[in-house]
Amino acid sequence: MERALARVDLGALRGNCERLRAELGGARLCAVVKANAYGHGAVDCARAASAGGATALAVATAGEAAELAGAGVAGMRGGDPGDVDLLTLGALTDDEVDVALGAGSAVGVWTEGFRQLLATRARALGGPARVHVKHDSGMGRLGSLDGEEVVALAAAVAADPDLELAGVWTHFATADEPDEDDGYFFAQLERFEPVAAAVRAAHPGVTVHAANSAAVFRSARSHLDMARCGIAIYGLDPFQDDPAARGLAPVLSLVSHVAAVKRFGAGQSAGYGRRWRAPRDTWVGVVPLGYGDGVRRALSNDCDVLVGGRRRPVVGTISMDNLTVDLGPDTDVEPGAEAVLIGRQGGEEIRAEELAARLGTINYEVTTALLPRVPRVPAGDP
Ligand SMILES: *Cc1c(COP(=O)(O)O)cnc(C)c1O
Repeated sequence: MERALARVDLGALRGNCERLRAELGGARLCAVVKANAYGHGAVDCARAASAGGATALAVATAGEAAELAGAGVAGMRGGDPGDVDLLTLGALTDDEVDVALGAGSAVGVWTEGFRQLLATRARALGGPARVHVKHDSGMGRLGSLDGEEVVALAAAVAADPDLELAGVWTHFATADEPDEDDGYFFAQLERFEPVAAAVRAAHPGVTVHAANSAAVFRSARSHLDMARCGIAIYGLDPFQDDPAARGLAPVLSLVSHVAAVKRFGAGQSAGYGRRWRAPRDTWVGVVPLGYGDGVRRALSNDCDVLVGGRRRPVVGTISMDNLTVDLGPDTDVEPGAEAVLIGRQGGEEIRAEELAARLGTINYEVTTALLPRVPRVPAGDP
């Protein structure tokens, strides 16, 4: 038995990709597997996503691109595998450029200086670099704010024998906030559309992309040629609601076990700082999982764990390697019983969205925070 593990249901991931493809109609699905697939394990998730119909994979860093290429999942054009397109989304240092190109990844470009550096490095490495020119239509982060500069950069890329123009793209700031948004999402789309149209008119084969997961559900107008979906492929809701309402199934379960069960007298305390004392005689279970695994200490005295098909409150301070739960004054829970921190047990479910709400964050951060000490164990049929 594992001390603790993250069960990754690759069949569910594949199903979520199929669900997104149905929503997208004819547009392509690019599965975003950055940050170790939001904590789920990049290589297995990338494989399952392509089985689910994703024809492109996106990562944030050159190291992540190299991991996928090394595993033979994507990239490495001119080398071996390569039927799934790989795109590195982030800004790259000079050293990272060589790593990304070596992995066969396309890269984003938004300045003439970087375009020239890329061409020089591509020539040295012996093959053209594929480029997606990025427009900052209002995210206020990476990309050129100037639409005319984007069109000119695309032309310069297309004219350069060491570069290949593959795409033009942008990223939304408020796709997941339809209530607070005040039209900003559509204003971004309206800024991007004429820029994309001008690039497409000059370079008809180019892939135009803007949508993240939230945008896919928010407006079909944002789908364009391809959508870059992360959170939804993991069955997590981009709007922090119930993923089932959008036909998405959570992929990750965080499972451990009850390592010890002890009788507490009223007033007896559990854990550092004595931040919980038994209000009555009770049984306390110890679960060998803590912030050293990525279970945030801020959840101390403020979340539940499923044991024996029921919610049990976490009591006391979550420590690096253990947490404690109140099993109640009468219990039939024995050491070895399964303990579920995220996922289902019996008729109960604890979703990443619930933990995120308790922590004042978003589901993305809950799964991405899981540390390497927790083995990711693939389950289900990809
Ligand atoms: C992370 C990321 C995405 C995926 O966003 P989700 O909300 O997880 O679907 C898409 N595009 C860019 C540029 C990103 O950085």
